[in-house]
Amino acid sequence: MPPAALSDRELDTYREQADRFIAELDEEFYLHYAGLKESFDLSPIYERHRNLTEVDVVKSVGLSVNGGRRVRELWRFACEGHFGEVTRDHAEKLARLESEIQLTVDGEEIPYRMARPALANEADRTKRQRIDAAAADVLEERMNPIHLDGAQAVQGAARELGYDNYLELYRQALPSSALDELAVQCRALLDSTERLYEDAADRLFRTRVGVSLNEARRWDVARLFRAPEWDKMFPKDRMVPALEATLADLGVDLKSQANVHLDLDERPNKTPRAFCAPIEIPDKVMLVIQPIGGPDDWRALFHEAGHTEHFANTSRDLAMEEKRLGDNAVTEGWAMLLQHLTDEPQWLSRRLDFPRPAEYAVEGATGLLYFVRRYCAKILYEIEFHAADDVSTMPDRYVELLGDALKIEPTAANYLADIDSGFYVSSYLRAWAFEAQLRAFLRERFGTRWFTSRDAGSLLRELWSEGQRLRAEELLKDVTGATLELEAVAERVREVLQG
Ligand SMILES: [Zn+2]
Repeated sequence: MPPAALSDRELDTYREQADRFIAELDEEFYLHYAGLKESFDLSPIYERHRNLTEVDVVKSVGLSVNGGRRVRELWRFACEGHFGEVTRDHAEKLARLESEIQLTVDGEEIPYRMARPALANEADRTKRQRIDAAAADVLEERMNPIHLDGAQAVQGAARELGYDNYLELYRQALPSSALDELAVQCRALLDSTERLYEDAADRLFRTRVGVSLNEARRWDVARLFRAPEWDKMFPKDRMVPALEATLADLGVDLKSQANVHLDLDERPNKTPRAFCAPIEIPDKVMLVIQPIGGPDDWRALFHEAGHTEHFANTSRDLAMEEKRLGDNAVTEGWAMLLQHLTDEPQWLSRRLDFPRPAEYAVEGATGLLYFVRRYCAKILYEIEFHAADDVSTMPDRYVELLGDALKIEPTAANYLADIDSGFYVSSYLRAWAFEAQLRAFLRERFGTRWFTSRDAGSLLRELWSEGQRLRAEELLKDVTGATLELEAVAERVREVLQG
């Protein structure tokens, strides 16, 4: 039987099963990374729900989209699941290789996954260059054949679903504000912040690495953002109390939220990185952390706490698509709003005995500018990549676009691994804009110390209750009357860098 549009009843069944599928994945993810379960058994979950992502089912859900955004979200979920299915072997092989391969540098073995921290912690520049070269060789020779095969499988799957390529499919799955119109804003931001970036990056490279931006090479970048002198300002024993006190200022009592499960226990196999697993929204949201301290760890905890409060305050009455699917720029925006408190001078002075908070804020703003420019270049690259007839011709374009944006030439070998599935890059870019504009609005309405205002907290809870029913653009418009502008990130950075 050829694929045909589903009845409302069939769509309900599909929706309910998709809901269980995502809950089971989140729970397995939680159990494994919290160190409560040694194995990570995704295959039985995928097996159980295989029908959700079969090509004819994906096409049938696609045929049911008739202007309604909820069904469109279900279709996007189905497509993403299908692409995940055709590349599951690739992902497993790559994960195995990544965890097995050792780089040999100066007779010393470095696990492949530790290459980046090794670069960050290595003071000797020439040794950093050798680590970078060893990692690039492995990527080129061992990983890229698998990455390339996976990228071609995805292109084939997009054609099988009836589209010229992956980009054309996403032009149907996402509004233009998340793709082509956003690309226009990205080009404008790269122009408007070029000089600002060159000056700020040059200053930070000279301070941290002892070279100018002109002399800087890609193996210096991890070193640039690893500033051990700030570590002691962010002690591990004060992380969770600082989060509790911050939320209390906003009128949220973390300990009494029955649906938020704060997992602070130490376990040998627990991942050191904070994460949030929204197993049931809003009824069972896990916030997991094993504090190690330092700025990175504080940032990660506050970011994940932003996701946690968003999901925990989401209204139970929303549809599955409005809770679990929808525009991820919204949840990433809430995460960024809390994350960026940790480089806000007034917050630092309130929560910590922090010397020179303004100097720290300048480093934070320089880092933000680096990453926003990097993601602008990435989305421009991904749009070209996903429309290319032969993706193996793309390394030069990768080097050109990323190199122009950052003034540092990237490894050509990274042209496949540096791609996020489903244009997730768009969610981060719009989340940065959402955070910048919402923060400006909160400061105007509640003062520069908005994060100590109960009224600001009430407004946030009200907005969190909307889950992901609205897109970031719509939510911002409802609250502030403004349209979402990437340039707001540039203004936010200028405010810190130019005082
Ligand atoms: Zn996030």
